[in-house]
Amino acid sequence: MDANQAEKRILELKDILWENSRRYYVENAPTMSDFEYDTLMHELEDLESRFPQFRTPDSPTQKVGSDLEAASPKSSRKGKDFARYPHRYPMLSLGNTYSIAEIEDFVRRAERELGRSDFTYSCELKFDGTAICLNYRNGKLFRALTRGDGVIGDDVTDNVRMISNVPQTLKGSGWPDDFEIRGEILMPYESFDRLNEEREAQEEEPFANPRNAASGSLKLTDPQEVGRRGLICTLYHVPAGSVACATHQEVLDAAASWGLPVSPERRTVGSIAEIEEYIDYWDTARKTLPFATDGIVIKINSLALQSSLGYTAKSPRWAVAYKFKAEEALTRLLSIDYQVGRTGAVTPVANLSPVFLSGTMVRRATLNNQDFINQMDIRVGDTVKVVKGGEIIPKIIDVDYSLRPAQSQIPVFPKTCPDCGTPLVKADGEAKWFCPNSDGCPTQIKGKLLHFMSRKAMNIIAGEATVDQLFNLGLVRTPDQLYTLSKNSLLMLEGWKERSAQRFLDSIRESLDVPFERVLHALGIRFVGETTAKSMARHFGSIDALMAATREDLLQVGDIGDVIADSVKDYFADSGHLRMIGNLRNAGLHFSVETAAESSDALSGKTFVVSGTFSVSRDEIKRLIEAAGGRNAGSVSSRTTFLLAGAKPGPEKIKKAEALGVKVIGEEDFFQMLPSGTVSPARQAPQPEPEQELTLFQ
Ligand code: NAD
Repeated sequence: MDANQAEKRILELKDILWENSRRYYVENAPTMSDFEYDTLMHELEDLESRFPQFRTPDSPTQKVGSDLEAASPKSSRKGKDFARYPHRYPMLSLGNTYSIAEIEDFVRRAERELGRSDFTYSCELKFDGTAICLNYRNGKLFRALTRGDGVIGDDVTDNVRMISNVPQTLKGSGWPDDFEIRGEILMPYESFDRLNEEREAQEEEPFANPRNAASGSLKLTDPQEVGRRGLICTLYHVPAGSVACATHQEVLDAAASWGLPVSPERRTVGSIAEIEEYIDYWDTARKTLPFATDGIVIKINSLALQSSLGYTAKSPRWAVAYKFKAEEALTRLLSIDYQVGRTGAVTPVANLSPVFLSGTMVRRATLNNQDFINQMDIRVGDTVKVVKGGEIIPKIIDVDYSLRPAQSQIPVFPKTCPDCGTPLVKADGEAKWFCPNSDGCPTQIKGKLLHFMSRKAMNIIAGEATVDQLFNLGLVRTPDQLYTLSKNSLLMLEGWKERSAQRFLDSIRESLDVPFERVLHALGIRFVGETTAKSMARHFGSIDALMAATREDLLQVGDIGDVIADSVKDYFADSGHLRMIGNLRNAGLHFSVETAAESSDALSGKTFVVSGTFSVSRDEIKRLIEAAGGRNAGSVSSRTTFLLAGAKPGPEKIKKAEALGVKVIGEEDFFQMLPSGTVSPARQAPQPEPEQELTLFQ
């Protein structure tokens, strides 16, 4: 690989990893397995070490993924703006591997660097939750911060106080007057199952795994609700120097004696063989634990040796994580369903004999498309191997042909839509069959409505059952009809009360504030996902300019190729779509970037102090503040509304902001506060996106 190719691939990997990091930490909805993510991260690390001229401080190899959610005054999910405080010591990640050989390398490297081998290791479970930093002052819980971006965290103290095994007051004696202890907030499987049952009953999307559920719950605005979620805490690290002990295990023993929840499963070991024994044991035994673990952490036990090894920008050199690969299980394929998505794509889904995998019961797995079924030669009645990588929809990865029943038949893919009976079509080069009856097929109509209302689109609170009701009674078939609904018509529906009807109508009304780029995404144009919609909105500025664009004009937009350009042209060539857009426009939705930007005085009355470096120049940031009606000030005072901190902010400014209770925000928060359309395009490289299918597994 030459330098040009390496640079291109590095840029590509950085984009993919940042985007997936955001989906994982902020959205709590990853779309890639941890194994795939880690493989790409290792590829990037390798390329950066071979071509160090392309390693930049913003690379995902140099920074921990951030859970800080953008604070947006325009966001319809209000009230999520936690106060933020800097960490005393950065909260880092851990180097990780899936290979025992690399654990052996870690041990040998440590021995070489320390020039000795007579030291011990602490072996611990790697708890799969969300990281937390607790600060105790004078024996009382003072503050709890999330990892945030590693430098600044969200203050979730009120929520953490509701977690029953976190002591408000320490017992015993000998604790330092002011110290931090770090660990993980977890949601045990039992609480997870209960929560998901409740969510499904209330038509809310279930959490994909306990990790997402724990981190989503920790960021709730209602501490009482956090208390009901059944979270637990386990603690595993006190920053060096805080407690006068020689080893990490002794520090944890001391913490346990003060009543802090410290894992009883940790062990002190003295050799690679014992580390491997610990890994082997827990690889099986972890399946009996009531909470999720995703590996083992191996730490050098002596605090003095830890400090001689030190840290990289992202992780300690004295610790490493061995991660377990996704769990697999054998089960029987009972039948195949053919599901129609909102775009008309027909996806075969396997109904499986229920099997317990990675802490949850798996009953269904995707079979992707007809080619996949043919290539794997899968038949109903087969014994199949299923894998579940954390949040990812379970996949079938193997078939045991030796167990195939004698009478089994090759599955017959339907020729017509299982929903509306229209003959299916398949375009050249496409793997999927489609129902072409996009405006008449009930599943597609309902899928489009669900997509229109989804959180990342118009954020209208409703689930599948509501859409079914509205559709079945002929009240809503196209999104524009949502804006004509009256309270009286809703009250005539079964199960609707004054309160639920008002809540639904309020949410429809609030959707009028949604910026153009999300409205464009909501329209559900085939192949136009969130990021492409954003690029198109920025490029054309209004729906009129977009509708007037030629195919060549569309191809000028960064991530638009032939397929998307054709799809956009086809969409606007349809008179039904134009009529619907006209109705939505009359209802008051934003159809241009300018409309939202001009009507905004988003930052009026707010005073900012800007410190550190950003992805655009500091002058540009200040200009944007003033353009949106805000004021710039040079130093932090009680009149400051926000300290806008980029990379390496002035430590004095941070300290002063903390002392005065001035909220510290990051660059992403700031850009979210600005009206749509003012975000500097240089900041975000668009990603090509897969189409979202909403019906599968919801
Ligand atoms: P990590 O989860 O791999 O490991 C570090 C974390 O482990 C620590 O921050 C701590 O919170 C936790 N931990 C649990 N038990 C511990 C113990 N006993 N001692 C010390 N720490 C312990 O690292 P990360 O930085 O939180 O996350 C990065 C990982 O997240 C990636 O390697 C990847 O697997 C996953 N990820 C996945 C996606 C995706 O799209 N699937 C995206 C981003 C990140």
